[in-house]
Amino acid sequence: MRIGCPREIKNHEYRVGLTPAAAREYVSHGHSVVVETGAGAGIGAGDEDYVAAGAEIVGAAEDVFSRADMVVKVKEPQPGEWAQLRENQILYTYLHLAPDPEQTRGLLNSGVTAVAYETVTDARGGLPLLAPMSEVAGRLSVQAGARTLEKACGGRGVLLGGVPGVAPGKVAIVGGGVVGKEAARMAVGLGAEVTILDRSIPRLRELDDLFEGRVMTRFSTPTALDECVFAADLVIGAVLIPGASAPKLVTRAMLSSMKPGAVLVDVAIDQGGCFETSRATTHAEPTFEIDGIIHYCVANMPGAVPVTSTYALNNATLPFGLALADHGLDALRRDPHLMAGLNVHRGRITNRAVADALGQSH
Ligand code: NAD
Repeated sequence: MRIGCPREIKNHEYRVGLTPAAAREYVSHGHSVVVETGAGAGIGAGDEDYVAAGAEIVGAAEDVFSRADMVVKVKEPQPGEWAQLRENQILYTYLHLAPDPEQTRGLLNSGVTAVAYETVTDARGGLPLLAPMSEVAGRLSVQAGARTLEKACGGRGVLLGGVPGVAPGKVAIVGGGVVGKEAARMAVGLGAEVTILDRSIPRLRELDDLFEGRVMTRFSTPTALDECVFAADLVIGAVLIPGASAPKLVTRAMLSSMKPGAVLVDVAIDQGGCFETSRATTHAEPTFEIDGIIHYCVANMPGAVPVTSTYALNNATLPFGLALADHGLDALRRDPHLMAGLNVHRGRITNRAVADALGQSH
């Protein structure tokens, strides 16, 4: 099969669908790989690195789209890219179609077979191609929060780790899933006092075991939330109710009871955010202030660290990508978890949640 990797064209997207190492694996499976010139620039991979991996460099995205049997990307295709997709071609990338009828129409009209990273499943009920980005965002959330707590960034001027003789900062993490666990790991590493709130007792048990007493766990009731949020220097929003908008757990009224200059980092902003006052921000202008509380609500946090994010993403996408390359659409029949990733096939929506969200049949 011929695998194609175009340069990402979404605004401020520096990741790339294939690392040179991933390209080399496709080549070692007997496939050919075409990569658009400059595609790896954002992760420091030059055209020569792809050539050394056995790939061919082409000068324009059109050459990738027209020649590839499978296009491997990171972000959802942009309008100019839909037009280049076609029937009997596989698109393998993040899509997030549910809130995006325009893109869905573009993909349906193209006839392409689209496998979305975010709906591929695993045997434990997880989303293995989404998890690496949650890991990145979770770890980054504490880094972003710690920096925002600095006075010059608008925060209350607290060092999360404290120093000998001065108490550490308090971090409340709302939601103890993938993001929450990784955030806790970083906050503990910095020496902060950390509390994780979740609605799942089994999950709280796991976290309690994992951190061996180094974090406090609380069942997430409104009362527990009030107590933790009002005491916190940094609150990290990391809840997810699959398929639904995030619940607004911290209301505007609660802000006035928080410490002035405390920081809210709303990682769940891509699902609408779990703080009532959140609105999506960008890396160029990541924070804003409401009622004395600093909000950080960057919707694509992993984009800040494209090198780490690209390698983490490729580690997770490569095995499924190789299966698609080796077996074509038969790979979907062989693996129900990969089949769960199929969102669009020859002009039809094939994922129930996406179809329901868009009010269409599947
Ligand atoms: P996850 O499913 O692993 O974890 C979510 C946790 O929230 C679960 O443990 C669940 O029990 C808990 N939860 C649900 N309702 C709750 C409540 N009322 N109180 C407390 N906990 C509650 O999800 P995840 O992978 O950790 O992702 C969390 C969010 O971060 C998602 O919205 C995801 O899309 C988002 N995310 C954002 C970025 C970004 O760049 N902003 C990047 C990656 C992930």
